[in-house]
Amino acid sequence: MAGSPSARSHPSARLVHQAITATHDSVHGPTQHFASDNYAGIYPEALAALIEANTSGHEPAYGDDSWTQQVCDRIRDLFQTDCEVFFVFNGTAANSLALASLCQSYHSVICHELAHIETDECGGPEFFSGGSKLLTAKGENGKLTPDAIEELVTRRADIHYPKPKVVALTQATEVGTVYTVEEIRAIAAIAKRRHLKVHMDGARFANAVARLNVHPSELTWRAGVDVLCFGGTKNGLPVGEAVVFFDKGLAADFAYRLKQAGQLASKMRFISAPWLGLLDNDVWLRNARHANAMAQLMAERLADIPGVHLLFEPESNAVFAELPGQVASALRTKGWRFYQFIGSGGCRLMCAWDTKQETVERFIDEVRALCAAR
Ligand SMILES: *Cc1c(COP(=O)(O)O)cnc(C)c1O
Repeated sequence: MAGSPSARSHPSARLVHQAITATHDSVHGPTQHFASDNYAGIYPEALAALIEANTSGHEPAYGDDSWTQQVCDRIRDLFQTDCEVFFVFNGTAANSLALASLCQSYHSVICHELAHIETDECGGPEFFSGGSKLLTAKGENGKLTPDAIEELVTRRADIHYPKPKVVALTQATEVGTVYTVEEIRAIAAIAKRRHLKVHMDGARFANAVARLNVHPSELTWRAGVDVLCFGGTKNGLPVGEAVVFFDKGLAADFAYRLKQAGQLASKMRFISAPWLGLLDNDVWLRNARHANAMAQLMAERLADIPGVHLLFEPESNAVFAELPGQVASALRTKGWRFYQFIGSGGCRLMCAWDTKQETVERFIDEVRALCAAR
């Protein structure tokens, strides 16, 4: 049992083992899956920046290092505004702490019923805000609408109802669609009228910018967004998301909040520096365009297969498709990994910055063969 991963006690040894077997098991190169874009590894230039940060000698800790300063400036340049930038380990922390900084415990946050903050953060926003409630709305294509927001805000105005304080949008959405600039502007307008702040969960912000082909500022502060959780992990970083406050007043004491939440990295340069590998030469956009293009290819090919139905317009790097139940199970048996959480045969197929066209083609060939053999 010496070579078996289960015989090893240390998890990192198991990971190394898996990496080696993954590389050697397949004639097609390293294994790729469609479960999530966070299954992908580190973009080479991001890794190079990490290594460079490690060879540049000692640096001050807790974010006072030159790398972190440089990346904050680069993000300010990118958005063409003097925003406040913070780095955290993951998206749950980014969203939870950003929302906590906008809310008192008696406030509420309006979001879509499928929002990651509602379904996938284990109550983090409620916990870190000391009790702010999430008020969810339905909406087509995973999107909030001005009317749905208005309905939740005006439903009650008494002290027994948690006072609405924030609208939280996910861009791109949890079902792979994107809010247009006009949609964001319309939501921000109602937010302003109702004295709500606008938060954007941008775990896949890059994919939305790539899709819409607009300047990142147009989708954020110029449209009325107050704080953006700018995702880097799914775009090719090893770890880390940036919390970008366009309304700098809202960032007051945010550093204390990060520290208290255990999100202040002492060797922060190793979270910030890899961003350079994405920001240089617009790699973040190129990675997102590639992932989006792979999803488009996946969607086009799937749409041609009898028995398969697309569930949403694939506007970013996700494809949601209804596959015959036995086909989905057979694909899993063959080793493909993807999430199934919509209906009985609804599958989410997520493409990453490194998804190869041949992986998509191979997957499609298997789906076609399995559908034909039914
Ligand atoms: C992945 C993701 C996040 C971040 O999740 P973590 O696992 O906490 O990094 C946040 N929002 C959305 C919509 C996501 O898909």
